[in-house]
Parts: sequence; C-alpha cells; structure tokens
Amino acid sequence: MATGVSCCRTNRRAMAERIAKEEIHWAFTASAPPECAKLEGAVDVDVLVIGAGLTGCRTALGLADAGASVAVVDSKDIGWGASGRSGGQCNPIWRKTPQELVERLGPRHGETLIKTTLTAADDLFSDIRRYDVDCDPVQAGWIQAAHARKAARNMSALGKAWAAAGADIVELDGDAVRAASGSPAYSFALRHAAGGHVQPLSLTRGYARAAAALGAQLFKETPMTSLERANGKWRARSDKGEVTAENVVLATNAYTNGVWPGLRKTFHPLVSIIVATDPLSDTQQKEILPGKVTISDSRLAIFYSRYDRDGRLIFGCAGSSDTVDTLGGYARLRRGLRTVFPQLADIPIARKWAGRIAVTPEMMPHLHEPAPGVLAGLGFSGRGIAMTSVMGRALSAKLLGTPADDLPFPIVPITPLPFHGLTRRLIPLAAPAMTMKDGFDTLMDGAWRQKGAQATPKRRETDDNPGETLR
Ligand SMILES: Cc1cc2nc3c(=O)[nH]c(=O)nc-3n(C[C@H](O)[C@H](O)[C@H](O)COP(=O)(O)OP(=O)(O)OC[C@H]3O[C@@H](n4cnc5c(N)ncnc54)[C@H](O)[C@@H]3O)c2cc1C
Repeated sequence: MATGVSCCRTNRRAMAERIAKEEIHWAFTASAPPECAKLEGAVDVDVLVIGAGLTGCRTALGLADAGASVAVVDSKDIGWGASGRSGGQCNPIWRKTPQELVERLGPRHGETLIKTTLTAADDLFSDIRRYDVDCDPVQAGWIQAAHARKAARNMSALGKAWAAAGADIVELDGDAVRAASGSPAYSFALRHAAGGHVQPLSLTRGYARAAAALGAQLFKETPMTSLERANGKWRARSDKGEVTAENVVLATNAYTNGVWPGLRKTFHPLVSIIVATDPLSDTQQKEILPGKVTISDSRLAIFYSRYDRDGRLIFGCAGSSDTVDTLGGYARLRRGLRTVFPQLADIPIARKWAGRIAVTPEMMPHLHEPAPGVLAGLGFSGRGIAMTSVMGRALSAKLLGTPADDLPFPIVPITPLPFHGLTRRLIPLAAPAMTMKDGFDTLMDGAWRQKGAQATPKRRETDDNPGETLR
C-alpha cells in the first residue's frame, strides 16, 4: 500500500506530466521576428541561401555585410528548424583531438580548424555584441561530464590535447564535479571556460535581422522545390516564386529534402528531445549549475542542460521522432533528469519539444561544392551553436573569394551513406538502443563511481586550488 508521502509525490508527478505541453519553449521568450513574407514573384540576387537557420542566417549576414545582394528563404520560418529548437549550449570543441583533426583533414585545413575552434565561442559572443543581437547570451563555462570510466579516460585525453593546443580547460573530479555542476551523477568532468549559452531562436532571428538591415531579403513559408541552371545562373523555384542567383548556399541541415540529389543521404537525421521545467528557486539555482554554467555528458543518448533567462532548467536527451513521446522518449528524458539532478525529481515540466540534428559518421560537419556556384554546409552533429557560425563565416568567405585551401573545412564530395534508406527507417530505435548501451556502461563501473574516479588523474578542486589548468 502506498504511503501518504509517495502517494502525494505520485500525484504531483502526474500533475507535472499533465501540464507538459508539446510546444517550443523558445518561441515564448524570443525577440520579435524580423519582417519576412512568403516569396511571390521573381527575385534576382548574387546569392540565394536556402534554409534560414543559424547556418543560413550567419552566411547571409557575412555576405550582406560585404555588400552582396542576398535572399534567404525558409520552407517554414526563420529558425523553424533545429536552430529555434536547440538547447542553445555553446560547446566549443569537437569530439576529436587536434591531432585527429589534422590526420583527418590534412595539415592545412586541420591547423586552420584548430585555430578557428579555439576562438569559436569568443567569436560567437563577439558577433552577438557586434550585431547587437538580443539573445540572452551567457558565457559562464561548460561542464563536460563523463558518465562512465572509459568515457572519463577518453575525455581526459581529449581535454589534455585541446588544452595543449591552447584551450582553457580544467579537469574536475570527485566532489569538485558536484560543486561545479550540482549533479551527484558524475565523478569526472572537464570545465571549458569559453562555453556558454544563448536563446537560440533569438540568436537566429538576430542574425536574420542584422542581415536584413544590411539589405538581405528574407522569405518564409517558401519551400524551394527545384534548383536548375538557366541562362548561366542558378534558378530555384517555389510554388509561387523563383529566385535567380549567381550562387546558391544550401543550409538545410537535418531538414534537407530532395533539393540537391544525394545531399539528404550524407548524414543520419537523429532527433533530440528537450523540456523546459518550471523556474527553479534561488536556492536551487545556487546549487544546480551554479553561476549558470551549462552541462552535457558523454552518453550516446547525451544528457544536456542549462538555464533560460527565467531560471527554468532546459534539459534534453536523444529522442526518436518529431514527437517527444515516441517510444517512451518523454519517460526516458524524465528518468535522465532524475539521474542527473535527483533534487529535481518532481519538478513540473512546462513544455517539451523535439528537433532533428544531422549526424555525420565522423561527427564533423561537411562542406560541399557539388557544382560551380553551389555550396552546402551541414552535419553539425549536435555542435551547431558555435559551429554553424564557423561554417557560416566559411561559406560567405568562400563566396567572397577566399581560396578553398584557406577554409577551416575541406570541400568534400557528396557521398551518400551506404544503406541510408534502411538506417533512416531504424532511426526511431537509435535512442532506446543508445540508452541501453549507456545504462550498461554505468552498470559496469557503478562501483568505480562509488569509489570516486580511481582511474582518472588525482586532481581535486578546492577553494584554494580552483581546478588544475591543463595547459
Ligand atoms: C533539440 C535540439 C537541441 C540541440 N541542442 C544543441 C546545443 O545545446 N548545442 C549545440 O551546439 N547544438 C545543439 N543542437 C544542434 C544545433 O541546434 C544545430 O546544429 C543547428 O541549429 C543547425 O543549424 P542549421 O542552420 O544548419 O539548420 P536548421 O536550423 O535545422 O535550419 C535548416 C532550415 O532549412 C529549412 N529548409 C529545409 N529544406 C528547405 C527547402 N527546400 N526550402 C527552404 N527551406 C528549407 C528548414 O525549414 C530549416 O528551417 C540541438 C539540436 C536540437 C534539435
């Protein structure tokens, strides 16, 4: 028989479940959208950007700032895709070490990408200031936490490698992880000083507004259905309009359809699901993610979290479809929230939503030039907040004349993934499967976590010794 306390808790939880609405939280707190209409009729520009997410809008901004005439179109609206649904965490390093980048991309692009990565977060926050983007920016650091022993070893190696290259990264273990994050779930973490967070829909709208102020034309509810060569230019058509342009940028990421042959087959369109809780009390905010630091972990079905400007916790993990509840997604997310922050086990959830992320096999974005005058940049693999700006700057630089060898990403051919049709159908199963694997990892070294990170270097942060800088 249930006790009074557990009965009460169950009722509270049931209430919390009832009020969680499937709607994107950011739409309720975003800055106003820029003026924008459906394309009707013909437009002639230097560059057409298809896709008005962060990649497309940052590309358009760079081009408009340099005096090019630009049109940006989106099938739905500015920031409708991942950019307006994102966790908004600026996690400024890749999952690969600098050396792995050089091995994979070659010395020239590798070294350029390392340099660009080291400044990616600062460049993002400086863009926000430069273009006066109203998007609640906070640069208070990012805790990257290891969920299991092997992950801690890999993370330590990754942190050391990036610190040696110049990143401001500190290792935390044991009590220091809990003090820095408010989570008892981890025994090892890296703290990246450059990390932070933004209101992602406001950032996207802000880039679009700044581009429009510099002359860019913005169009919503304009799905481009064809792209072809006509009279020495590119011509893209929608149901009621057409754009003629010297150059075209495809910035459609995980929402890519058939506008360019094969492009949608170059990545896996995985899903991330995410919630906004009710606001936390001041006391809770002092303990959980103190100082508004962000957190994400090493799970395959990654748990990630940050505050919004009203003190609501935004918490996400991997999902299965555009609907949060598919295959128990919401229940898994709530379990994840309880694992990472057991203090918030019963917190009401105000809103829940889902979005698609484009994941490439090597978890690095791809830059393509499938025909003269056509560029595509996509596949951010969950690192889009800082890295879409890196890509957007690269795309605009290329169109403005920067040689391909000087870009941070090599231009690679469009290569469809093998068995893409089959893996696409299996995508809903990915999140439950990854969750099982993550659970197995933590089960295997639960004893290690109890003992306190024996396999990781003995570094403890105290008030006198605030973390050990790896540099
Ligand atoms: C729930 C969630 C949480 C995330 N959290 C984080 C995070 O915390 N940190 C982080 O770094 N990254 C995160 N990401 C990833 C990040 O948000 C993305 O990498 C980034 O927003 C991609 O931006 P984009 O502009 O390339 O694509 P999108 O924002 O997806 O934009 C693509 C746009 O193209 C449009 N489009 C597609 N086809 C056409 C067409 N034919 N004609 C016209 N328009 C078209 C779509 O309507 C869409 O608006 C998250 C993603 C999701 C979904």
